[in-house]
Amino acid sequence: MIKDIVLHWFRQDLRTLDNPALCMAASQGVVLPIYIFDNTNTGEYQMGSASRWWLHHSLHALNNTLDGKLSVYIGDPKDIIIDIVQHLDVKTIYWNRCYEPWQTARDKQIRQKLKNYGTRVHSFNGSLLWEPWDILKKDGTPYKVFTSFYRNGCLNSVTPRKPLSKPKNLRLQSDPTNSKTIDNLNLLPSIRWDTKMEQHWKIGEQGAKKNLQQFLRSGLEGYKQGRNFPNKKHVSRLSPHLHFGEISPNQVWHAANSKHASKDTEHFLSELGWREFSYNLLYHFPKLPSKNFQPKFNHFPWKTNKRLLQRWQTGQTGFPFIDAGMRELWQTGYMHNRVRMVVGSFLVKNLLLHWHHGEKWFWDCLVDADLANNSASWQWVAGSGADAAPYFRIFNPVLQSKKFDPEALYIRKWVPELKKLKSNLIHAPWEANKSELKDLGIVLGKTYPKPIIDLKASRTSALDAYNKIR
Ligand code: FAD
Repeated sequence: MIKDIVLHWFRQDLRTLDNPALCMAASQGVVLPIYIFDNTNTGEYQMGSASRWWLHHSLHALNNTLDGKLSVYIGDPKDIIIDIVQHLDVKTIYWNRCYEPWQTARDKQIRQKLKNYGTRVHSFNGSLLWEPWDILKKDGTPYKVFTSFYRNGCLNSVTPRKPLSKPKNLRLQSDPTNSKTIDNLNLLPSIRWDTKMEQHWKIGEQGAKKNLQQFLRSGLEGYKQGRNFPNKKHVSRLSPHLHFGEISPNQVWHAANSKHASKDTEHFLSELGWREFSYNLLYHFPKLPSKNFQPKFNHFPWKTNKRLLQRWQTGQTGFPFIDAGMRELWQTGYMHNRVRMVVGSFLVKNLLLHWHHGEKWFWDCLVDADLANNSASWQWVAGSGADAAPYFRIFNPVLQSKKFDPEALYIRKWVPELKKLKSNLIHAPWEANKSELKDLGIVLGKTYPKPIIDLKASRTSALDAYNKIR
């Protein structure tokens, strides 16, 4: 029997730096670090394929940092934790809080069960700058508008905690009765579509740190404008690292803040504020992933069209900017924010397909799939959310493409069959004359799709549909 063992349950905090629960656990005794792949309590939000792939590599990275001492399990944490507590006589458990509704419900049940066994639970904030219950309006109700949430709520509240160092004297012990390995969790896909994805990421705590440093060195200056251009390197690509907790928002916040004050830094920090806003919304409105935040959208006349949905999913819409984004997503597990907004608007407004279809596809394909950010963002795009884009603002994918990818470098990268087209034609290839296309080996409808809808007519239909619920 191991003496004085305390348990640290890793969840969305797959790091050793700035990990409040791990620091506290380390100060109390020998730490048994565990990860449980919960395939029981998630309901319809089972982790998507791209996230599972990321998690596989992230757990390996964490295990290396922990000298191979991470014990992994698969199943229902409600049973697994009790089992560990009993057979290893654990008296105290530490974890950092998670905020998805199914996680909070599960954790509440686990706490109750552990109380019956006389085991103490200590939980910490390891993934948000401000707890959702701390940022409320003066009347005690949650904010529904981002600017006042961030300016009046967050920035008027306490400064985010400074990052903690790696725990000193971290004494680790693995579970001697558990023989499961990370590979036994079967997180990798059976058809190996993931081999190409590896080149785009450095997964794990070290990768996250390098990514942040690189961004601070060469991306932050110019962020405010540059973040709109998908071919420029002005975004941090930290979202999957933040989702899995390979880096904390506090580390990012303070590192960015240590740079000289500028409009770029301010804007970057406010994007972390959007992340806080999404979590705040999800916490206070737990139906956000499934129900329209604005009930009037319950009567919206969405269409059903599997063929159009599939063309959108596979990047075969005939609109190069949309197709570039959808293919970037498929090949890397990521899509640039500007393009997420444009492909989202195209799905819900031009194609009139329900935002749930987009949310589900992103959930499966994104390496940064995050219940709070994904559902809040899809509702924002659809116009049904809190502080959402007005429904009548319908992005024109051709104008967006000309404005934010003027040399079409992004399009050429992800839609190589059009790469020889001149910049003045590539954004709307159907406007080129046939012989010009043919000379470049392009035949619309054969080598690249014709547009699947008429932009003008679909815009009118979208506005008509919106007027019905206004
Ligand atoms: P940066 O510009 O470098 O921003 C830094 C960090 O701020 C990001 O890592 C992210 O944590 C946060 N952030 C930035 N923009 C937003 C935003 N609009 N909302 C919330 N947080 C933000 N983000 C996710 O993390 N997971 C999702 O599942 C997700 N789904 C989205 C779906 C749609 C339809 C849209 C329009 C946006 C979605 N976003 C999602 C938000 C945003 O697109 C990504 O967070 C961002 O593109 C990540 O890239 P980055 O790390 O380079 O961002």
